[in-house]
Amino acid sequence: CGRVPRGSWSSDSSGSSGPREPRYRVVLLGDPGVGKTSLVNLFAGVQERELLEQHGEAAYERTLTVDGEETTLLVLDIWEPEQRGEESRRRSRCLQVGNAYVIVYSITDRGSFESASELRIQLRRARQAEDIPIILVGNKTDLVRCREVSVEEGRACAAVFDCKFIETSAALQHNVAELFEGVVRQIRLRRGGKES
Ligand code: GDP
Repeated sequence: CGRVPRGSWSSDSSGSSGPREPRYRVVLLGDPGVGKTSLVNLFAGVQERELLEQHGEAAYERTLTVDGEETTLLVLDIWEPEQRGEESRRRSRCLQVGNAYVIVYSITDRGSFESASELRIQLRRARQAEDIPIILVGNKTDLVRCREVSVEEGRACAAVFDCKFIETSAALQHNVAELFEGVVRQIRLRRGGKES
């Protein structure tokens, strides 16, 4: 614990002792194989990832400068598939700890899209009274010929579930920075709303 490296997106300078900006926990949800780890790898940077994995961690912290303001995200890649008969305490905890959620499906896997809807419902149930930022992510857009879920379906689902929507390709590094910037903006919108 405590070994949280800075990424190259960070503009922290060591030794500065200014006021610490708040840190927000972002939890990635979604079926196995949809690309959660690949997305978080891009967020973390490969070197940081390797360093943390040696210490058995799956949390990646970076400070992003978005619209001229710094925000630190701690991204947790801790979601595990449901095991038969397994008690779901760990999963319930995942649904409790996030300040924001990224629900990922693969555009090449309709089952993962349906799971994403179920996850949204579980999250709503677990955090009933809260207005938590949720981003629905259709990943693997590079696999054009294998697409099973259209952009329109993704967008419509996000509208129904009252979340933001973006399509990404971790393989092509397309829209991945935009995804995490979007998370920061959604967090700030809520923060502003609560204060007013
Ligand atoms: P996770 O189980 O959700 O964490 O998924 P992973 O990140 O481990 O990815 C599962 C597989 O999908 C791996 O073989 C990845 O290389 C691949 N993958 C992830 N994202 C993409 C993508 O955007 N495009 C393509 N073509 N493959 C991807």
